Amino acid sequence: MQASLSSDVRRVRRASEFFGRTASAAAEAGGSRLSLGAWLIACTSVLCLSLMAFGISGGIFTYGNAVGEAQKNANNLTQSLAQQASDTFEALDGVLLGLAGRVEVEGTGPAARQQLSESMAALVTAMPRLHDLFILDARGRLVVSNGSAQLRPDLRFDAQPYFRYHRRHANPGLHIGAPQLSPTENLWVLPVTRRITRADGGFGGVAVAQIALSYFEQIYEQIDVGADGAITLAMDDQTIVVRKPHGMAGRKIGTFAVFSGPLRYESAGSYVKKSSIDGIVKLTAFRRLGRYPLIVLVSLAQHEYLAQWRRHAIPMGIMLSVIVLMTVTLAFVVSAQIARRRRTEDDMAALALIDGLTGLANRRQFDLVLERECRRAARDRAPLGLLMIDVDDFKAFNDLYGHLAGDDALSAIARTIAGGIARGSDLAARYGGEEFAVILPANDGPSAVVVAERVRQAVLALEVEHTGSAAGVATVSIGAASFKPVSFDRPIALVEAADAALYAAKRSGRNAIVLAAAFLAPASGPVPSAGAGRAGRR
Ligand code: GH3
Ligand code: MG
Ligand code: MG
Repeated sequence: MQASLSSDVRRVRRASEFFGRTASAAAEAGGSRLSLGAWLIACTSVLCLSLMAFGISGGIFTYGNAVGEAQKNANNLTQSLAQQASDTFEALDGVLLGLAGRVEVEGTGPAARQQLSESMAALVTAMPRLHDLFILDARGRLVVSNGSAQLRPDLRFDAQPYFRYHRRHANPGLHIGAPQLSPTENLWVLPVTRRITRADGGFGGVAVAQIALSYFEQIYEQIDVGADGAITLAMDDQTIVVRKPHGMAGRKIGTFAVFSGPLRYESAGSYVKKSSIDGIVKLTAFRRLGRYPLIVLVSLAQHEYLAQWRRHAIPMGIMLSVIVLMTVTLAFVVSAQIARRRRTEDDMAALALIDGLTGLANRRQFDLVLERECRRAARDRAPLGLLMIDVDDFKAFNDLYGHLAGDDALSAIARTIAGGIARGSDLAARYGGEEFAVILPANDGPSAVVVAERVRQAVLALEVEHTGSAAGVATVSIGAASFKPVSFDRPIALVEAADAALYAAKRSGRNAIVLAAAFLAPASGPVPSAGAGRAGRR
């Protein structure tokens, strides 16, 4: 019976393990190909990691550039706008200082009022940022103005916060009030005021300059901060003066990060935060006006200043990922193919080591193992046993039962021989034709005979009918030999000794075991003939 291919492969894999690396050049070549697959994956991994590191670092670098650029723009803008606002208040301060001084010196008699009114009208005309100018007396009554129609003489200003402030404070500096909606014009204005001090140091009234907030709005309107960006001019008490987009003058915003936490001590800086007004994440740069209680904030929407970076980074990332994925897939496919090919070649190499009919080790494997075991025995100074087994009268068996039956009988006898060896280090092989061999490492003559007898009995017990044989069933004759090799290159001596013993067993009448006389194989020289003693026959 022919052993199935898969059982052959299993058997051969065991044989390959038994051999170790030296047994098969093909297996060694396969080993290096496995390393090639591993190398391929390792190199691909390094390549892909480098690619990814390159891509990620490039992405981080360009991201940093985009953020840096936005930060620079926002900082520059706050710098310019803070300067512009400071200049505005400084100019107004000069105007108010002059007016207050004139009132303090010249008083507000009819002639002085006339001159003051003309000067104020000229100033308002000359300074477009000035909405109107007027002087209040110590009781909050309008004394003189630039002549604006809305400044009616009957108006009282004693309830105005800035009026109350100046009445309470002798501070002669510039005061900037909260933005207010001018009731007569429905217009947002920012009152900028200065106290008028009488000669005796008492409160003499207030010089008032009002700026229309539209002045700032027009300036901010011309500055591009993106669709979701913002420019804010706010007071220190968190009151919004002007904001682009517009419509929030006078509202208090308590959520600006510049009014809380460590930033409230900074004169300038920036931060990224989700806006509490529109919920958009923004980079905000701020700058305090220093001399005045105001702060300019420029906010740029993150999704806008990163838009260009995203337009490049996302396709680049996708492209890189695809390349990495394809490279890794390719490496794994190629390495799997290499491994599969290696396994196939190993299997082929291993199949070349077994006998097709019986599934035992073939002659090639027998020779390799015998040589290896001979070297091992010489190294260990251990005996090495060998059985040569020949089926008796097998020609007659074929003649009687046919070749196919002969094949089956050989397979059955082969299995029986393989079953008769006890240790994993022993090897049963088909030596050729109806001859088998068993290598028995570390077996001296008597223990080799014990194995031989077990095999002979087992074959007998198979009871394969053979009318052409003396026993009526198939039997085997066995020549046993054992020696302690002293050199590596003489296993042939052991084979010849066992072979000679086998023929002695044949001559003795078959179904017998003969042990070759003990011998030491010389490094070279004649092989001793079997001084055979008959070990057993039933
Ligand atoms: P002896 O007892 O002296 O060994 O006699 P024998 O007939 O066994 O020896 P001989 O050498 O004369 O014949 C061996 C026979 O074994 C001849 C050959 O046809 C047969 N044989 C060898 N290999 C195979 C095989 O693979 N299949 C079959 N069916 N027969 C085989
Ligand atoms: Mg023979
Ligand atoms: Mg024979």
